[in-house]
Amino acid sequence: MSKPPRTRPGLREPMRAQLEQKERHILAPRAQLSSTSLGRLKTEEECPLRTAFQRDRDRIVHCKAFRRLKHKTQVFLSPTGDHYRTRLTHTLEVSQIARTIGRALALNEDLMEAIALGHDLGHTAFGHGGERVLNEIMPGGFYHNEQSLRVVDLLEKNGAGLNLSMEVRDGILKHSKGRNLPILGEPARRASTLEGQAVRLADIVAYLNHDLDDALRAEILQPEDVPADIRLHVGSRHSERIHRLVEDIIHTSLDLDLAEIRLGEEMLEQVERLRHFLFVRVYDLPLVRKEFERVHKIISELFETFMKDDELLAREMGSPPSQGERERQVCDFIAGMTDRYTLDLYRRLFLPRPWMKL
Ligand code: MG
Repeated sequence: MSKPPRTRPGLREPMRAQLEQKERHILAPRAQLSSTSLGRLKTEEECPLRTAFQRDRDRIVHCKAFRRLKHKTQVFLSPTGDHYRTRLTHTLEVSQIARTIGRALALNEDLMEAIALGHDLGHTAFGHGGERVLNEIMPGGFYHNEQSLRVVDLLEKNGAGLNLSMEVRDGILKHSKGRNLPILGEPARRASTLEGQAVRLADIVAYLNHDLDDALRAEILQPEDVPADIRLHVGSRHSERIHRLVEDIIHTSLDLDLAEIRLGEEMLEQVERLRHFLFVRVYDLPLVRKEFERVHKIISELFETFMKDDELLAREMGSPPSQGERERQVCDFIAGMTDRYTLDLYRRLFLPRPWMKL
């Protein structure tokens, strides 16, 4: 006897409409529904299968800047050890931490995933060292969060951009804390959605913990160097620290009835302390600073060369230089480079090539 045909779920209404309906049932009242998104810069027809935020996430995963994250430094420059974080593994850790928070608080996980996967697309090679050099060179400065927005709006797909939803763009732009700014940031500069606020905290939870873990791996720190009160209140193991921080964010935000996503006061104090400890004992170490001086030399020399040499810029970028926006064009090109591409380019342009013919 032949089986009756299975009913296909998307037959009567598009799958997207069913998913949007599901969001209305299961998400918290203050969560961002994909069906009430403010839309895109350029209007497009909706996808029959995916919600707007699912589509944004997929666009990010398939873009070239996302693939380049695997060869961009997190803290330790161009690490050869297989277990150090790169900008890509950092991004994946942020995404998973954010989704744990999102699932617990019934927020829109697709939106969080899209923001998290896109948040560092504008990061330069060599971590914050590279960012600092471009910030010095560029009139008006350079900030990786603003550059991430340029990548998704203007640079990807040969200048067409990814045309992402406003909520994803807002979350990407407002994820950054800045080096010396307070962790929670000023209310006016917080993401407009709870999902964006949660990704910002997930970014902090991820980087503080994996930078500490990488510093232990590099033997720059020993476990007993971590101040006792941080070990006691936040945890002495990597997984324990992430768990407690995430738990604190979830409970604090629930206690506030999701008026905002935040850490409790006590935990916030510990996180500030941990961040200060990492600045003093890792990020500002003479050993790490010495490498940044080399990064400064490499990036500023490349910048200067590309500003002067039209032919070189055309050859390396694959398009002729535009005179009006030259600085911006060079900045976009250099900001997009990976650690290994930058080093290889520098070698090709400035160092003598060994004679290979036998
Ligand atoms: Mg980040």
